[in-house]
Amino acid sequence: MSCALPAAPPTRLAAFGRWMQRNRTLVLGLQWVTLFAYLFLVAVPAFLPLPDNQAHLWDDLTRFAQFVFWGIWWPFVLVSMMLMGRAWCGVLCPEGFVTEQVSRVGLGRPVPRWIKWGGWPFVAFLGTTVYGQLVSVYEYPKAVLLVLGGSTVAAIAFGLVYGRNKRVWCRHLCPVNGVFGLLSRLAPVHFRTDRDRWDHAEPARVIPVNCAPLVDIRRMETSAGCHMCGRCAGHRDAVELAGRAPGSEVAQLEIDDANPWEVRLLVYGLIGTAIGAFQWSASPWFVQAKIAAAEWLIEHDSYALLGDNAPWWLLTHYPEASDVFTWLDGLMILGYIGAAALLIGGWISLWLRLTGYLTGRARAHLQLAYALIPIGGAGVFLGLSALTVSLLAAEGINIAHLPLIRGLLLGAASLASLALAGRMVSRMTLGAARAGLVLATFAIASAGAVLPWVVMYYVW
Ligand code: SF4
Repeated sequence: MSCALPAAPPTRLAAFGRWMQRNRTLVLGLQWVTLFAYLFLVAVPAFLPLPDNQAHLWDDLTRFAQFVFWGIWWPFVLVSMMLMGRAWCGVLCPEGFVTEQVSRVGLGRPVPRWIKWGGWPFVAFLGTTVYGQLVSVYEYPKAVLLVLGGSTVAAIAFGLVYGRNKRVWCRHLCPVNGVFGLLSRLAPVHFRTDRDRWDHAEPARVIPVNCAPLVDIRRMETSAGCHMCGRCAGHRDAVELAGRAPGSEVAQLEIDDANPWEVRLLVYGLIGTAIGAFQWSASPWFVQAKIAAAEWLIEHDSYALLGDNAPWWLLTHYPEASDVFTWLDGLMILGYIGAAALLIGGWISLWLRLTGYLTGRARAHLQLAYALIPIGGAGVFLGLSALTVSLLAAEGINIAHLPLIRGLLLGAASLASLALAGRMVSRMTLGAARAGLVLATFAIASAGAVLPWVVMYYVW
């Protein structure tokens, strides 16, 4: 026999969650508006001539779209993950919305095993990040149409084939799903399931809820997969929007819950690959290596790699803007990003291994890696916001005290990572000396994620 537990008075957050649940039509309306605005800004600039030097973001659609996508949307969506969880995904994301909508009328096939492979978020993030650099996605609208539009077409195709009323694409294949999942673990708000209440809910009062990103709501213990859509708010009187200490999910992560693919994505992707991708165009080492390689090729009468005949969808090719990549450019970019990912990721992995070894616990290096999420999030925000800064500077708007702001952000993120690692270590009851040693080696590991930004912003 079931017996319902008495309901606690709802908090403001819980009341807001239930408001979201009751106002689905409003959320749907918002999603339709976002979808049309997104399609317009992705598609139309690709068919316009490239803007000249006199164009401004307020009088030229291409410049405006560039600023919206890369100056505001992308950096601040990442920040929103750390502040509000994946509310972007559940409330605004046009791709998530469209894949779910088409899945209502699609084939509704079950999700095959190959789609569920845990390495997709890693592969997809690396692939789109590197490809985006090769085609200069931050600068040219045709590249935007190819990268963002291509992802949207794929989201629609998967929605038409797999799942019914679901977001199979978002759950398994979206290139930023893994990164969003990592960052959302820091958020001070989440949808929380009370297992006791769930199990004791009155069956007669239970109306099934459709969780589009396929979260097992009853067993939900992480916000990584939840799109914060609010549909389950109040379900069985057991699920509510709730507050928590920022980072508490990471601090309380159990060793067995650490996922090696998530750690690879964090260390080699969000940190290593992202740094390489943001750094190569500002790097004097890149220029020196490229000149040396070109000279070597000329000395050896080998000119094929110096050709600039690659199509725009493979390598940047805009002669009208005097921006054309040679095959050598493409190889050098691949080499630079690859080397950065391996060196930085390798450094962090090595020191994390030692950190884990010093704790005396198997897999502790994987658990402690999650404490690097603040540094990873801050780093990628710094890289993306550099574009915001340069787009604003081109319009004569300069951000005051930029070096100081960047330094404070990096410092705060480093301290947050160290604090998270400290909280994890304190649960291991290691003794003061060993705990200090573990934290020192963790700090050396995390330096691998901080120093490249220091070099980029303060040395070069
Ligand atoms: S668990 Fe699912 S239904 Fe509930 S808020 Fe998250 S995404 Fe929406």
